[in-house]
Parts: sequence; structure tokens; C-alpha cells
Amino acid sequence: MNTPRKAVALISGGLDSMLAAKIMLEQGIHVEGINFFTGFCVEGHTHAIRNKDQEKKEKKRNNALWTAEQLGIKLNIIDIIEPYKDVVLNPKHGYGANLNPCLDCKIFMVKEAHKWMIENNFDFIITGEVVGQRPKSQRKETMPIVQKESGIQDLLLRPLCALNLPETLPEREGWVNREKLLNFHGRNRKPQMALAKEFGFSDYAQPAGGCCFLTDANYSSKLQDMWQHRPSRDYTLDDIILLKVGRHIRPRENFKLIVARDGGETRYLGGYRKQFKHLVMRSHSGPVTLIEGENLSVEDIELAAGIAARYGQGRDADEVEFEYSDQQQSGYSLHVKPMSPEQIPASWLV
Ligand code: SF4
Repeated sequence: MNTPRKAVALISGGLDSMLAAKIMLEQGIHVEGINFFTGFCVEGHTHAIRNKDQEKKEKKRNNALWTAEQLGIKLNIIDIIEPYKDVVLNPKHGYGANLNPCLDCKIFMVKEAHKWMIENNFDFIITGEVVGQRPKSQRKETMPIVQKESGIQDLLLRPLCALNLPETLPEREGWVNREKLLNFHGRNRKPQMALAKEFGFSDYAQPAGGCCFLTDANYSSKLQDMWQHRPSRDYTLDDIILLKVGRHIRPRENFKLIVARDGGETRYLGGYRKQFKHLVMRSHSGPVTLIEGENLSVEDIELAAGIAARYGQGRDADEVEFEYSDQQQSGYSLHVKPMSPEQIPASWLV
């Protein structure tokens, strides 16, 4: 008996990558998944911080792991936070509608998967891409760019739309049966849903614009604001995680506030108090507020407290008491009048 060929599947947690892997398994190919953790992933640990997420009947889950479990394959989760920075900061092919560098991202991930494939003696790579599904990274013209620039050439097979593309080496060599591959194209999701039904998958992640926060307009605007107000665009994992949490308000050029939106976020942001200047409401119950900025004057801190007071139980009180602390935990208490909604212009909301 021939040893089965081995394919590395890029698993995002969405339906398409799940179907692509399943098609290979049906052909007797040994499949293992790779899921790259960039820090921007929707599948991540900030998933269920908010009270509303914890209360949902349908609990948040890591869809990449769940997909692997459904398929019965091993999933390798690989941290690429550091090398991925160059993709986000300097995308050769530019950004999509927001700060999503999809084409560069795809090239980078296939390149990394190629390295993994060689190190682990796998034969080829599969993805759940579909021609014409995404305007930037999944066009017929861009697919050869991914193959060429990643160096994978014709060892990259896209089972869902292979019949619309030139034959790859796994097809030519007969490792996979091309006749059993598909010709999906365009944005219509119905063929994928029908195939999911055929395979008996009734529960799968619904596609929501993209697999990472960089496709999200609100998130991108916070990232852009962070870059504009720092000497360098370099970032840490904490920076990009915190952009997913709380209300971000920039009343002055030299500082911004991150105000928790509920109890879950207050507890989460509380974990950052040693890293940030912060305000804790003392006279009423209310959110923890982190302050990111330099050269804060007493007026700046009072302004920050006036804004934060707006989001606590004392919003209608004459005065709210706060404890202000810096990273060294030295600080003082202050009393402020909560600001009214009219005093907080929309232009301050990042
Ligand atoms: S949505 Fe994000 S993770 Fe997905 S290809 Fe685009 S940049 Fe990469």
C-alpha cells in the first residue's frame, strides 16, 4: 500500500478552510492544520471578555480548534506576532478597504506554511480560497502572485476552486484526483453551504468579512490613531489586544482614555493597572479607565476623570471621586463633575 500523501491545511476557523480540508480527507490524504496567530485574529483570547458575550447562550469558541476537532485532524497553532509586523507595517501590495494587508498576509502565511511543510516532510499546501470571493486577495489575477511570491509555486492547491485554475503538481502527479475537486467562484456562499450539508456539517462559523480585526473599520481607525500619536508605528501584542477592548477616547493630542464598557472589561483592564496611568472610581461604581499618554497636566487628569465619570453610576451626581495612579502606583484622589454627553464631542471617540 502506498503511504498517503500529506497536506498542510491553512485553517482560519471559517467554513471554506474546513471544506477544503474535508475534500482532501475524503481523498485519503493525511491532513494537518496550521493556524497562524497574528494578534489580530478574530479567534483569540479577547473573545468573551464582555458580559454580553458571557451571557450568550451560544458560547464563544476558538473556531480553528473547533474545526480541527470536527475534522479529526491535528491543528498546529503558530505564533507569528513578531514577523507579521512587517506585513502590517509595510505591505508591498497595500491595504484593503481598511488596514487589512490581505494579499501580503496571504503570501506571508503561505511562505511560513511552506517552511513548516518542508521541515515536517509534508507534500503540499491547501487553502480554502475561492476565486473571486474577496476583492483583493482572492482574485484570479492575485492567486498566481501568492504562489510566486511565497515560493510555493504549484504545491499550493485550492480544492474549492481548483477546476478554475491551472493544474497543480499534486493533481498532475495523481496524488489527488482532480475530477473530484470543485469549481466554486465568486461571492455566492450557497455552494459552500450545500457542500457543508452534504458532509454533515450543520454548525460552522459564519463568514463575517474577514478572519482578522484589520478588516474592521472601527478597529482600523483605533490602530491608525495609535500610529499617528506615537513616534513609531511599531506595536506590542498588548497594544493591539487593547484596541479590541473598551471605549477609546482622545480628548487631547497628548493622551487617550480606554474606558471599560462593562464589568467584564473593567476586570480585564484592571489587569493593566501596573502598566498604565489609570483612574478608579471611588464614590460610585464605574469602569476602570486607563490613560495612555505623556506630559499629563492636572487639567488633563481632571478632564479624563470628568469623561470617565460619565460612564459610571455617578453620571448624574454633582461630584464623583476618583483615585488617580501612575505606573509607580503613586497618585492622589480627585473630585470632578461628570461631563454631559454634549460635552464629549463625537470627534473625541476614536
Ligand atoms: S483578513 Fe486578516 S488574516 Fe485574513 S487575509 Fe486579510 S489580513 Fe490576513
